[in-house]
Amino acid sequence: MSYDIVVAGAGPAGLCFARALAGSGLRVALVERQPEAALAQPADDGREIAITHRSRRLLETLGLWRHLRAEEIGVLRDALVIDGDARGGLRFRHQDGGRPQLGWLLSNHAIRRAAYAEAAALPQVRLLAGAQAGALRLGDEGVELSLDGGEVLRARLAVAADSRFSALRRAAGIAADMHDFGKLMLVLRMRHDAPHEGTAWEWFGRGQTLALLPLHDPHTSSVVLTLPPGPMQALLALDDAALEAQMAGRFRHRLGAMRVAGPRCAYPLVGVYARRFAAERFALLGDAAVGMHPLTAHGFNFGLLGAATLACELRAELAAGRPFWERAPLARYERAHRLATWPLYRATQALAGLYTDDRAPARALRRLALEAGARLRPFRRMVAAGLAAEDESPSPLRRLASFLPAWRAPLCLLSPPGRGSR
Ligand SMILES: Cc1cc2nc3c(=O)[nH]c(=O)nc-3n(C[C@H](O)[C@H](O)[C@H](O)COP(=O)(O)OP(=O)(O)OC[C@H]3O[C@@H](n4cnc5c(N)ncnc54)[C@H](O)[C@@H]3O)c2cc1C
Repeated sequence: MSYDIVVAGAGPAGLCFARALAGSGLRVALVERQPEAALAQPADDGREIAITHRSRRLLETLGLWRHLRAEEIGVLRDALVIDGDARGGLRFRHQDGGRPQLGWLLSNHAIRRAAYAEAAALPQVRLLAGAQAGALRLGDEGVELSLDGGEVLRARLAVAADSRFSALRRAAGIAADMHDFGKLMLVLRMRHDAPHEGTAWEWFGRGQTLALLPLHDPHTSSVVLTLPPGPMQALLALDDAALEAQMAGRFRHRLGAMRVAGPRCAYPLVGVYARRFAAERFALLGDAAVGMHPLTAHGFNFGLLGAATLACELRAELAAGRPFWERAPLARYERAHRLATWPLYRATQALAGLYTDDRAPARALRRLALEAGARLRPFRRMVAAGLAAEDESPSPLRRLASFLPAWRAPLCLLSPPGRGSR
């Protein structure tokens, strides 16, 4: 069967990319190994995804936002970074970004459900669920992707959105820098006595890193705990009562009693950055291109940005009457996405290393960094303005932030706030 584009992986990035091509006339095959029922009603995977203002605009424009239920949207007003047992910490306030909130928190399964609802409804998208993408052949005449059932899909361009451990990336001969942090991250929804007040915590302690992500209910948060594999396995083996007591203790009882309110999900921490994002008739998208450590909460934000950027580049070629599968639009996507992601990827890797290093020099350095950040109001305002930036930025600080590529928006897809388009 012949298509314009074949996409491997119907995760958030693959689905959003297919949706971003709506109305372009391009016929898209979307190959996903999970069955269709698992895409339509994805299982709760415990992940709560922090969304920037720009991502919210993109989700609205792509029509995903309207599928989210009110109770699935948490408001992230402020953020607090705490080091060790120190009181106080570095606080990023929403006022510094000039907005009522720094961002939002959405469940990953809600994003997936919304993205499926939008992409699956498009007449030019054929979803091949329950099919594993296998051998890939890239040639001058086009691409061929073999599925495990024996079917061969032919297209003009192949896009790999098949996760940070992408098999297609390897099949295309693209190397990736991979860093295994040797730790596991537990995500678990919990109810707690004290209200979260819309504040996210990032708490770097000895031998553990804790985070608290405020959800819609003022007494429910997503608790995120990073530990080496041994202690994590012991924690996962506890029953609910023992786990609740241990989590309350790890939070120094600042939240009062804590109760389990969701599934326990643990993820290995591996950062991945592909050496190239594009090759002849081939592009990488989402985690397959940039697999972020969750510390700075940007994996999906980058995946969404990449999907929109690539779709805009392909649309621009179509509008100019040029072949969309040629090197030029792929090279522009690669350049833009590298500029947008590389600085934060590197910074995140460095921060993750520094804040999980319990040796005395590292502890001293991070305490100094946090104290300096807490004293420097312009720095705090810059970070908050960066999170709040969309595209056009009225305030001088937000205008400055919007010059940084990571905060720029792919303009071809942006509609006025609050309006979806198809
Ligand atoms: C604990 C945690 C917290 C996070 N928090 C945040 C956050 O706050 N903010 C943020 O922006 N990001 C966050 N992220 C990152 C975010 O979840 C990911 O960046 C995002 O889900 C990646 O989407 P994707 O579509 O690229 O890949 P995936 O979600 O991995 O999807 C890949 C898809 O490809 C399919 N697939 C794989 N191989 C094949 C094949 N051979 N054939 C067919 N199908 C295939 C898989 O079944 C899957 O459906 C977090 C991640 C974790 C683990």
